[in-house]
Amino acid sequence: MSRPITLVTGGSRGIGAATCLRLAADGHDIALAYAQDESAARTVAAQVREAGARALAVRADTSHEPDVDRLFDTVAAELGPLTGLVNNAGVTGLLSPLAEASTDDLRRVLDVNVLGTLLCCRRAVRDMTAHGTPGAIVNVSSGAATLGSPGEYVHYAASKAAVDTITLGLSKELGPDGIRVNGVAPGLVDTDMHATMGDPDRPARMAPGIPLRRAADPSEIAAGIAWLLSEDASYTTGTVLRIAGGR
Ligand code: NAP
Repeated sequence: MSRPITLVTGGSRGIGAATCLRLAADGHDIALAYAQDESAARTVAAQVREAGARALAVRADTSHEPDVDRLFDTVAAELGPLTGLVNNAGVTGLLSPLAEASTDDLRRVLDVNVLGTLLCCRRAVRDMTAHGTPGAIVNVSSGAATLGSPGEYVHYAASKAAVDTITLGLSKELGPDGIRVNGVAPGLVDTDMHATMGDPDRPARMAPGIPLRRAADPSEIAAGIAWLLSEDASYTTGTVLRIAGGR
């Protein structure tokens, strides 16, 4: 059987980087998209190659349609027909109550988390149906979608609830084409994202309120994503797997 070819957006750091490494170990060839951090993207690509898989790193803003088209065109030309997509690229903006959030942050969060997911799903579906390749999509949501995240980022929580609805609707739309669509909803994960949102100590500070009393390692989220992409999940579609330490 030929190797799966999987695109991970936001694959340069955090959960996306851990997912690239896990999928490479599971036998996938990997394309990863990143926004800015070329050096991190190169490092992940090199680690994927060390694991014996093909790797391609492409700078592309997933909320920008021409970038998305260039990304998918490059992956098809360099690696072949895509069989898997992990919509992982996501942003939160700065932590704050809604009253203090800037319009720029609100727009950026919706653009990257919702429009970006839609653009990448749309292009993946077009490519997969054109090639007749049964495929699988995993959308990275957040526990925030059901918690609402008051005082922190209600707009981000709402964007992830939209991601869950995309997962549900697309799974029904694409089931007859043999394309499975699922999500993972991580809880608190130890990545750079907390420093980016203005609170680097957030994982340590919030750990006591989590039933498992700690933040997740990104590899623990990658394991769920890898399972949803695998043949072991062949009858699983339209589900959102919560990986949140009981939160
Ligand atoms: P992270 O460490 O901040 O990494 C974000 C990744 O996304 C980076 O690779 C970044 O690229 C990329 N990215 C950001 N905007 C992009 C864009 N417009 N186009 C393409 N790539 C873009 O984040 P993370 O914590 O791993 O989060 C990954 C996903 O998990 C997100 O969807 C997030 O909402 C979700 N999540 C995270 C947590 C958590 O506690 N960390 C919890 C629940 C859900 P550069 O390296 O180039 O900047």
